[in-house]
Amino acid sequence: MQIDVDVSGRKVVVFGSPVPARRVVTRYVRAGARVTLALPGPVPPVEERMDSVHYTSQPGSADTSGLLRLLGPAWSAVVVDAEPVVRDRVIELCGHLRVLVQREVPAATQGQVVLVGGGPGDPRLLTVEACQALRDADVVFYDRLAPTEALPELAPGAELVDVGKSPYHHPVTQRSIEELMVARARAGQSVVRLKGGDPFVFGRGGEEMLACLGAGVSVRIVPGVSSSLAIPAASGIPVTHRGLSHAFTVISGHVPPSADELAALVRLGGTIVVLMGIASLEQIVGGLCGAGMDGDVPAAVVERGFSASQRSTFTTVGRLPAEVRRLDLRSPAVVVIGEVVSVATSAQGAAELWASDPFLDVEEVRRG
Ligand code: SAH
Repeated sequence: MQIDVDVSGRKVVVFGSPVPARRVVTRYVRAGARVTLALPGPVPPVEERMDSVHYTSQPGSADTSGLLRLLGPAWSAVVVDAEPVVRDRVIELCGHLRVLVQREVPAATQGQVVLVGGGPGDPRLLTVEACQALRDADVVFYDRLAPTEALPELAPGAELVDVGKSPYHHPVTQRSIEELMVARARAGQSVVRLKGGDPFVFGRGGEEMLACLGAGVSVRIVPGVSSSLAIPAASGIPVTHRGLSHAFTVISGHVPPSADELAALVRLGGTIVVLMGIASLEQIVGGLCGAGMDGDVPAAVVERGFSASQRSTFTTVGRLPAEVRRLDLRSPAVVVIGEVVSVATSAQGAAELWASDPFLDVEEVRRG
C-alpha cells in the first residue's frame, strides 16, 4: 500500500551514513521535512555536509536518553544503516513514542548506468521497473519524448538533466551525453538515462550501452513501451489482425529507406509503421506507390499520442502527403500504413468510444 503524506515542516531522523543515505535525505529535504542525519560514524566536516540537514552521531543502543532526545520530537525515523542493536532499539522506542519507522535499502555505492525506456510520454505507461530505477537515481539524463513533467515526483532524490533532443536539433551532442553518463557513474552515482519509448528502438540506446561498457561502467537495460506499438494502439489500430496482417515492419523516416527497401516492403506486405516520418513522408509514399502499393490502402497519422492533444487522422496512403500539408500534421507522430487501419475505423461509433476513455484521449478523428 502507498499513501501520500505532506511532510513539510515535520522532523525526520535518518539513521545512516552519508553515502548510503544520500537519496533518502535528498527526498525528504526536497519535500520540505526537517532532516536530521544520525550517523553511525563521526560527523563529517562542514564542507562535506548537505545544506539544511542537521548532522549528529547515532547514540548507542544503551543510551536511552540520547535516543529519546533524538526521536521524541520526530514524526518519522528512517533506518538505512545502523548497528543491528541500535536499529532494534530505535524500532522499539519508536513503537512506544508512536513515531513512524521506515526501513530503506542503502543506496548503491558502486556507480552504474540504467538505460530506461520511458514509454510514449504518459507516466502511466512507465514500467514498474522504470519507476524503481528513477526512484533510485542520483541523476537522470532525459530526452524530450520521455515523461518529463512527472520526473520531479518520480525521481525525487535525483538531479534532473535535460539533454533534450528534438529532430535535427541536439543541444547536447551524443558524444557528450555518453561522456556525462560515464563520468557520473565513475563518480559512484546511479545514473538513469531516460529515453522515450524503448531505448533500443531508434533511440541510440545500443550506442550508449556500448559507450558505458567500453568505459568499464556497468549497464542495465529497462525496456519501455515503444511508440511503434503503443501509438497505433492509442488510436485503436492493432498492428496485426487476423485475416488482415500477420506481420509489421517499423521503419524510420529520419534516414528514409531506399527505393529498393521500400519495394521489398511492398512485396512483403503486412503493416508498415513509420517513426520520425513526417518530413520524409512524401518520399516514402512515392517509393511505396512506385513499387506497386495501391494508393487506396488505408493509412493513419497519430500525433502526440497519449497526450491531451492527441490527434488521429485517417486517410489512404495515396492521400497522405496532401493530408500532411492540409492539416499541418507535425512530429512527434506515428504513421501507420496497411489494412489494419480499417479496424480502427470500421466499428461504428469507435471514435466516440475511444474519446470517452481519458486514457485513449482521441480529440479528433478525421476520415480523409
Ligand atoms: N525509442 C522510441 C522512438 C524514438 S524515435 C520508441 O520506442 O518509441 C522518435 C519518434 O517516435 C517520433 O518522431 C515519433 O515518430 C515517435 N513517437 C514517440 N513518442 C510519440 C508520441 N507520444 N506520439 C507520437 N509519436 C511518438
